[in-house]
Amino acid sequence: MARKRLRAVIFGPQGSGKGTQGQLLAERLDVPLIGAGDLCRAEIAEGTPLGRLMDEYVSHGMLAPDELVHAIILKRLAHVPMEKGFILDGFPRNVEQAGFFDKFCKLTLAIHLKMPDAVAVERLAHRRQCPKCKSVYHLKHLPPAIEGICALCKGELVHRDDDVEEVIRKRLAVYHFMTEPMVVYYRARGVLLSVNADQPVRELFDELIKKMGKLGFSV
Ligand SMILES: [Zn+2]
Repeated sequence: MARKRLRAVIFGPQGSGKGTQGQLLAERLDVPLIGAGDLCRAEIAEGTPLGRLMDEYVSHGMLAPDELVHAIILKRLAHVPMEKGFILDGFPRNVEQAGFFDKFCKLTLAIHLKMPDAVAVERLAHRRQCPKCKSVYHLKHLPPAIEGICALCKGELVHRDDDVEEVIRKRLAVYHFMTEPMVVYYRARGVLLSVNADQPVRELFDELIKKMGKLGFSV
């Protein structure tokens, strides 16, 4: 049986470990992980007309309109060798974007990481990050050897402002309202892979690999 080409999106609520799983999958399958946030930041850094427009939204803490996001993503993706396969992170993030992207390039897999809000809040509220090397710790499950100090680079760990419970709850509400309807969209397209993300990083990764293999992807 011919193996399926991997053209995937990975999505899930904040705290579901989407970034980590995306990275692990990209390494294992040897495909690029394309972060929408990185593409937009690169566009802003280059100061192009699209980048300047995006900067207006970002600097005012507003979500950019779909049209602008589409324009930047398509422009940047033109430089990515798509034949090899890829994993998108952070785009599409709503049903409109999903429909738009399918017209440009039909995704073959939508990885949905499921996680109850209570678990996401607990994870993020206990998360501490090293501002220098970006290592992430969890006060209960993955504490640093020396309290408050990064084990890798000895940086001072911080609790990010957006990891405060009230902010997390707001972001989760936005996720449920805006992004979660993609579950219905991709299920109808027959490409949805939903997994329970409330498990250790390695076990979740193994489950994903196993299920992707069954779906006909080279893992
Ligand atoms: Zn560090």
